Amino acid sequence: MEEVGTGLLDRLDALQRVAASAPGGPLLIVAGPGTGKTRTLTHRLAYLCAELGVYPEECLAITFTRRAAEELRERLEVLLGPVTEAVTVSTFHALGLLILRENAPAVGLTPQFRIAEESDLLTALEPLSEKEARKALAALEPATRETLAKALRARDMVSLDELLTLTVDLLRSSPALVSRYRARWRWIFVDEYQDVDPVQYELLGLLCPPGGNLCAIGDPDQAIYSFRGAEVSFFLRFAGDFSTPDVDARVVRLTRNYRSSAPILAAAVQAIAPTTLVPGRRLDPARLDLEAPVVGLYPANSVADEADFVVRTVDELVGGLSHRSHDNRVDSRTTIGAMSFADIAVLYRTDAQAGPIVDALSRAGVPVQKRSHDRLLDRPGVAAIARELRYADGLGGSIAARVRLAGQVVAGRCGTLDSDLMTLNESDVWNAVDLMTPLALRAGSDLDEFLGALATGAEVDGWDPRADRVNLLTLHASKGLEFPVVFLVGAEDGLLPLRPYAGAKQTDDDIAEERRLFFVGLTRAQDRLFVSHSRTRFRFGSEREMAPTPFLAPIDPGLLERRGPAAPRKPKDRQLRLI
Ligand code: ATP
Ligand code: MG
Repeated sequence: MEEVGTGLLDRLDALQRVAASAPGGPLLIVAGPGTGKTRTLTHRLAYLCAELGVYPEECLAITFTRRAAEELRERLEVLLGPVTEAVTVSTFHALGLLILRENAPAVGLTPQFRIAEESDLLTALEPLSEKEARKALAALEPATRETLAKALRARDMVSLDELLTLTVDLLRSSPALVSRYRARWRWIFVDEYQDVDPVQYELLGLLCPPGGNLCAIGDPDQAIYSFRGAEVSFFLRFAGDFSTPDVDARVVRLTRNYRSSAPILAAAVQAIAPTTLVPGRRLDPARLDLEAPVVGLYPANSVADEADFVVRTVDELVGGLSHRSHDNRVDSRTTIGAMSFADIAVLYRTDAQAGPIVDALSRAGVPVQKRSHDRLLDRPGVAAIARELRYADGLGGSIAARVRLAGQVVAGRCGTLDSDLMTLNESDVWNAVDLMTPLALRAGSDLDEFLGALATGAEVDGWDPRADRVNLLTLHASKGLEFPVVFLVGAEDGLLPLRPYAGAKQTDDDIAEERRLFFVGLTRAQDRLFVSHSRTRFRFGSEREMAPTPFLAPIDPGLLERRGPAAPRKPKDRQLRLI
């Protein structure tokens, strides 16, 4: 660890330093991928605390995913040491949960209230039948929403969807509370600000007055959540919203990309150009490796052929799979001149694309980890165990041990007439214990952190950023991350841009958002980038012919290198290859 405080800004370039050491007041850092936005955020926070006497407990850093929050906290710990503990690093949802827990009686809840699971939502809508209740939930009519909210409140529950609206309502109704939180978090930092939605935006406005110390960071060209209500316009009007007659918002633009090789960056910049939201933006490579490999482009004949390409190329990159031990604890990072599995990511548009790639890699003995979007809390048994944990809070010991104990208790009650456990069997319970254990290990001994993570959407997978496995994740989930090697698979018209159903009409805005998603994918790569597309794919119930994505068109052909069998093969050949 570095000595705390000394030379904190030495590791930043001149523009990053301007941003990190800017005085208080609203600050917008707007810059492209890989320009060190997140790095600047952590250094600014650390610098304010270590050099300018800001108290860590006055700092609130907000990110969009739990994992991004974990990573931010880790990066801060390196810079600030143990006092990082006092900084609030949180997702928007976890922040809502925290504020509601602190003020539960004011919204008709007890401090022990819980987040409703799907089954709770269905029961709350009784006397509707399950089928009717599901339909009502899917439609989410305002009337249903209201009935639901009331019924949940009576049962001391909140649904995940209303966590933030309830928080906003609470603060709106209580100026005293607003003042209290403003005094508590005098310094607020928001990463990925381009993806805030109206409720999150309103919450920020309540927590931070115009002229306040709000540092927002983001890139309009990476706005990829409008389908969930995010509005990039909030980013574009930041200065107007948070300036006052006395305090002007400061805007800092970073221009050097430290992440990607020069050819990869050039290709990405060309790909976003047709619909960029930041015309005239500069994004210069800090890496001047103009001779670095260009983007590999693989036109596959089939989905199986595409998976095969990934396996073959992974094999080349790690220096021969057949010579490697299949024990994934082998520390391949020390292998000279070769990539390790953990350096490699496979990115795709839809979860359904992961299957064939996972299968092919696994068959070849490549360890993989897939990031899933399923909520842990929705798996059978998980909720029952979580509830047991809360009741038996006095148990002590590690969370993992307590999860096992609670699992035993719940398993013992399976099949009894307890209405919650009637449909549960013992193997569900032990599966749930296994699924919960990685999260429990990360939470250590903090039960509230563990239950909070569960409630605010912890995913099913046991994704470990340090495991030596090839990473598989959706383009959406890859935001903010970087990998030495990236495969972007399924780069086909219809998948990217995604046509959600046959014949779906798409607006120019829809297509532009898909192009930004493509841009996010390309810019995750540091050293090697491979884009592949398949000539055929099973979509909407039948095998279809697929054309390559139109998003490749603006890229200079000199930055693309066709790999593998170029010409389409005769069907007979293909048959042979697949065997
Ligand atoms: P994204 O938009 O994808 O979230 P970002 O702007 O947040 O990207 P970071 O993740 O902070 O970028 O930084 C990208 C990479 O560049 C990281 O590996 C980071 O350590 C490195 N980096 C950033 N600034 C510098 C610098 N001044 N010197 C050396 N490396 C740097
Ligand atoms: Mg970032």
